[in-house]
Amino acid sequence: MSGLFDTYHRRINYMRISITDRCNMCCIYCTARSVPRLTHDDILRYKEIQRIVKAAVGLGVKSLRITGGEPLVRPDVSALVELLSQVDGITDISLTTNGALLAKYAAELKEAGLKRVNISLDSFKADRFKYITGTDKLGEVLNGIEAAKKVGLDPVKINMVVLKGINDDEVIDFARMSLDEGWHIRYIEYMPFADTEGEGNRVVAVGDILESIQQSLGKMEPCLPTKGNGPAKYYKLHGAEGTVGFIGAVTDCFCANCNRFRLTADGGLRPCLLEDDEVDIKGPLRSGASIEELARLIQEAANMKREHHRLGEEFVRGKRQMWQIGG
Ligand code: SAM
Repeated sequence: MSGLFDTYHRRINYMRISITDRCNMCCIYCTARSVPRLTHDDILRYKEIQRIVKAAVGLGVKSLRITGGEPLVRPDVSALVELLSQVDGITDISLTTNGALLAKYAAELKEAGLKRVNISLDSFKADRFKYITGTDKLGEVLNGIEAAKKVGLDPVKINMVVLKGINDDEVIDFARMSLDEGWHIRYIEYMPFADTEGEGNRVVAVGDILESIQQSLGKMEPCLPTKGNGPAKYYKLHGAEGTVGFIGAVTDCFCANCNRFRLTADGGLRPCLLEDDEVDIKGPLRSGASIEELARLIQEAANMKREHHRLGEEFVRGKRQMWQIGG
């Protein structure tokens, strides 16, 4: 079998690239405030990321997602998108963003080769949005969503992290947007990371979210994803143009179909979001490693991939937080 496989025979063809650990929001469930940020020298240059991607493509990786921190706070992300879209074999480049700067950059990102975008939005209520994110940027995010659609990024998916007692009363309002506006909504189970709000008692099971939507808005039919590489299970409300997806990291372990690995902004290859296993690729890269040597390091990281994560069995007390890995 050629290509990149882990020891459980899962094919790995999708790479998530975090380009910064900085963010222009400070979400209660994501950002630990007390940890120092990376320096300019710590983070991979765009050309270095391109070189790692060339090595990954040789192993069969086809899809890339740029994330962070907030990727759009790093200058000139379009230049990176352009560099990555020049790599033969890459068929899909997407972005995960909080959307606050998207209205400004959507057109140039699309022009550079970005295909689609996931935008995080946890509330339509300004005061609650401020409580969750620490900012007043709800209007900017909504403008970002509109701009992304207008320039033809497709699909635009909206990621909502559902937090018990904080925004779980809005899940129906979000589902309604799949009917009224054709939005693609994805409900993400809150993953209890260390140092963030609420830990395990904030988790709302995706099964419960699905049931409450059906009780309010009628039965949903399972459907295929509107493009994507992820673990979400998708449904449609009757008559809806948009979809609703569910990512149950805690209650519906998705590891059996995991197809991805991650590159941190400071050059760590991580086979799993939720485990600390990591291979340093920046050191060898900056010491002049060949593409073949970089590919060997990627395979080494894939070999470390565990059968499944341990979220739900115990709290994750990992060395890195979500904003340091790239959620
Ligand atoms: N700043 C970008 C954004 O907001 O989309 C990209 C990085 S952010 C870490 C990526 C995704 O991870 C967001 O959708 C965010 O809501 C999600 N996320 C962060 N911490 C999480 C947690 N503890 N549980 C579930 N999702 C989380």
